[in-house]
Order: sequence, then C-alpha cells, then structure tokens
Amino acid sequence: MGVMSNAPVPEHSGWRKAFVGLLEGMLDGLYPPSCAVCGVSLKHGRALCDACDRDLPRLAAPFCQCCGEMFQGKIDGPFACPNCHELSYAFEFARPAMVRDERTLELIHRLKYNRQIHLARELGRLARESFADPRLAPALEGSWPMVPVPLHRRRLQHRHFNQAWEIARVLGGHTGLPVLTALRRTRQTDTQTRLTRKQRMENLRGAFAITRQGRRWIESSPDGVVLIDDVLTTGSTVNECAKTLQRAGFRRVFVVTVMRG
Ligand SMILES: [Zn+2]
Ligand SMILES: [Zn+2]
Repeated sequence: MGVMSNAPVPEHSGWRKAFVGLLEGMLDGLYPPSCAVCGVSLKHGRALCDACDRDLPRLAAPFCQCCGEMFQGKIDGPFACPNCHELSYAFEFARPAMVRDERTLELIHRLKYNRQIHLARELGRLARESFADPRLAPALEGSWPMVPVPLHRRRLQHRHFNQAWEIARVLGGHTGLPVLTALRRTRQTDTQTRLTRKQRMENLRGAFAITRQGRRWIESSPDGVVLIDDVLTTGSTVNECAKTLQRAGFRRVFVVTVMRG
C-alpha cells in the first residue's frame, strides 16, 4: 500500500457506470443527500450544491507567492507579506485553493471531527483548482507524487482516517498524480492553535520522518513532490514536512491546500 496508481479507466464503460451509480445510491442512503452549506437536497453523492460551490471564495490575485495570503485593495509595486516577512520556507510555494471562509472551514471541520468522509470528494475537487496555477506545471508534467501530511498513529486510530490523505486521493482522481505515503509522524504534537509561530516551529522539530516507500521513490524519481494538507495557517507544519522530504533527497517541494486558514 501507500502508492496508489491512477491508471486511466475508460470513461464510458458500462460496468463502471453501473458500479459508480450503485455506490452513489448507497452513499445517498448513508448520508442524507443535501448540500452541506445550504441544506438543499442533492443527488449522486454530491454534498455541495452548484450555487454554494460557485459562491465559496477562491484565492485570487494579488496573493503572496510564498504562502498564498491574499492581499486586499490595490497593490502598487512590491509588498511584504505579514506572514512571510523575513522568513524562508523549505517549500517553494504554498497554493491554497480557497481563502479563509467560515463555510469552507465548516466543511473541513465536518470532515475532520464529525467523520463526514463523503465531504473529501468536494474538498478534493475544490483543491484541484490550485493545479490551474502555472507554477504547478512541473508537478503535472513530471507526474510528481502527492504526499499527504501524516497524522500520528494514535490520532489516526481515533479519527479512523487522515483527512489530508482522503483529499489527496480525490485529487489523484482529478490530476492523475499518484499518492505517496512518504512521511510518517514520529511523535504526537499537542494542538498548535494557541501557540505562537516560534513555539509551533519548536513543537514540530523532528516530528516527521521519511517512510520506506518515500525512500524507494527518491531512488528513481527525486525531482519533486506536492505536499497536501487541508488548511495552511502559519505554514509551520508543511514547512517541517518539506524539510524532512528535502533532507531525504527530494529536490523540490510544492504545497497545495484546500484553504488558507
Ligand atoms: Zn447549497
Ligand atoms: Zn506570505
């Protein structure tokens, strides 16, 4: 396990359609098929209606080319990002698909804490929009693997799934890029929400390690990886992950997240 290939499947093969239809029917039965934002009833395993989908705020220029922080108002000439000022990251850039918004955050929280795993399909589809950014072209052309930010084993046991892995899996279906479990979390870190950036960085030092699958991948294709996470807040977590990946031998690290927190 760990490596997931995305061999092309004939789009219109009858059995596949029937199978997908059956699965969607089962999902409709399992989860009340309604929009997770406005509650309108839906079909075919969707969890977001078209109107709410269109309405969710996308990241749009101008935004920080390092961390994806969006800037308000008119910008003339160079500007300093309040988040990245005097900082350098181990990743080249982070590209969130959405800006901070309570609706998007609610979708992410429901996936993470209420185990509404069907929402990964919508969140992965939204994250796919980040790949329209021309800076991600080398990853698409080179079939770089997507590496989800790992959860600690104990947290995984509690939650039963890793939301970043689920989002990456859906992204894999859209982009054709493989999903690689290249990282593992070596220790559980306390919740970071109340820590300053400096404390976050300290707290995370040495919290990740490369996996055997990760090492094997580097031997044949060390060009780069795309780290995947649900939310980017200060960037401390993905930065620590990027450091670990680079030390192990990956040359370039890009970051894609669903939302800028
Ligand atoms: Zn809706
Ligand atoms: Zn920034």
